[in-house]
Amino acid sequence: MNTKNCIVCKSNNIAAAYDLRDYRLNNRRYFYHYDKCLDCGLIFQNPQVDFDTIINHYNHQPIYKSNVSRNGIQRILNNFGLKKRANVVLKHKSTGKLLDVGCGNGVFIDYVKNNSNLEVVGTEINVDNVTYLTGKKGLDVRLGNLNEISFTNQEFDIITLWDVIEHLNDPNHTLAEIKKLLKPDGNLIIRVPNGNSVDFALFGKYWAGLDAPRHLYVFSKKSLSYLLSVHGFQIISSNYHIGGYLNTLTSLEFFLNDQNISLKLRKHLLKLFRNQILQIIFSPMFWVSSLFHLGTSMTITASLNNE
Ligand SMILES: [Zn+2]
Repeated sequence: MNTKNCIVCKSNNIAAAYDLRDYRLNNRRYFYHYDKCLDCGLIFQNPQVDFDTIINHYNHQPIYKSNVSRNGIQRILNNFGLKKRANVVLKHKSTGKLLDVGCGNGVFIDYVKNNSNLEVVGTEINVDNVTYLTGKKGLDVRLGNLNEISFTNQEFDIITLWDVIEHLNDPNHTLAEIKKLLKPDGNLIIRVPNGNSVDFALFGKYWAGLDAPRHLYVFSKKSLSYLLSVHGFQIISSNYHIGGYLNTLTSLEFFLNDQNISLKLRKHLLKLFRNQILQIIFSPMFWVSSLFHLGTSMTITASLNNE
């Protein structure tokens, strides 16, 4: 169903923005329409594809697999990324209980469990991931959406959503749930693709932050800040320095998937850019863009306005 109003600021000042296909899975059959709110800047899928359709775009795709083997350099780079994410949390709270909503393959909670004094709990909708994480990894991960799991009110000191909120049909509903579960002095940490990034300006409709049809929203700091304020949160810090190069490569892959070039050449080019030495050489460029808040993703920390 089409909506005539922005879900964040309720404005009806909206305009058609993009018709995108699924560049990740390279599906040429369907297009997904996105509008933009001219008041708060939110970009949103309109109409939204239904949940059952979306779930088919997640399961059985190798990118979401729980256990991918990594070589030495890749493992170091991944650990460096996890450390940066953990530091965002630990800067504000070093003890207490953390809830990671939509914990995916569980690498973040696994890292925090092994490298801090925080108690960690995850939620996840993919049953295979939950089975793997609760079994082999011995992690406390609950199956389902937040509203389907019974937690105690004000149970958590920290709630994190890494690359999750842009996938939710109704972020307002989830934020209302989160507000109930978070302690009054707790912190909410959200990472989303940055609608003001250099990558978006550079790649346009091929930018991985759009990732149709899985991403239903693209936030700028302004629209995310507005959404959070509706639920009584204020942003206390932001960080644009997590996860640059690999996201840029995904945008490049989406672009190549839409070009009239052979599969072999496409694979060859991507392999060339995946080279980890290149990744290290290019990293200063990503530091500079993050300094100016133009990094491809933004991580914000928010606290409750306790009037
Ligand atoms: Zn708006």
